[in-house]
Amino acid sequence: MARYTGPVCRLCRRERTKLYLKGERCFSTKCPMSENTDRTLRAFPPGMHGASRQRQGSEYLTQLREKQKARRIYGLLEKQFRNLYEEANRRPGITGTNLLQFLELRLDNVAYRAGWGASRSQARQFVRHGHVNVNGKRVTIPSYRVRPGEVVTLKNVTRENFNVKRNLDVLDRNVPGWLEAGENGFSVTVRAVPQREQIEESIKEQLIVELYSK
Ligand code: SF4
Repeated sequence: MARYTGPVCRLCRRERTKLYLKGERCFSTKCPMSENTDRTLRAFPPGMHGASRQRQGSEYLTQLREKQKARRIYGLLEKQFRNLYEEANRRPGITGTNLLQFLELRLDNVAYRAGWGASRSQARQFVRHGHVNVNGKRVTIPSYRVRPGEVVTLKNVTRENFNVKRNLDVLDRNVPGWLEAGENGFSVTVRAVPQREQIEESIKEQLIVELYSK
């Protein structure tokens, strides 16, 4: 499936918030959205008129930006995101919560939450390159939706990978409550479908639902 391959810091600048798309760099002063660097001078939307253009406060714009933010955080293109929304809408329950749950349960996101990838795009690459197993079987589809009870593990040979070790040691990300870490952090068991309060991302999902249900 296609993915966005362009520069990512401009996506944060467009959304005027940190989306944490580059791993370690996002926590350093090299981040153009960081408050502790001169680079805050670039904390305005990209493009020729980014610095001068004033944001109009229309309802539609607010909803659109929220949708784009969520889509970019999880690294999905519009069609994939829209399809996921349609499925969330068909399911019983709150559509916005369903949507966030589907996003969280993606295999690339689980690999990211487990701390193996510094960013979701790196975690996605681990999946695509066959480094991740689900219940002992290799799964190379980043959008694969994990289910409660499934065990996601990193291949033995990949556990020695410098990047993986560094991510686990340096980034030291906490595994969320709906996952249970094992094997020194090289495996996670899906305990349950995440509840809304267990999903940390600051996404106002209701705005996305309003946008798509117009
Ligand atoms: Fe966004 Fe990370 Fe780039 Fe900062 S370094 S602008 S958080 S992708």
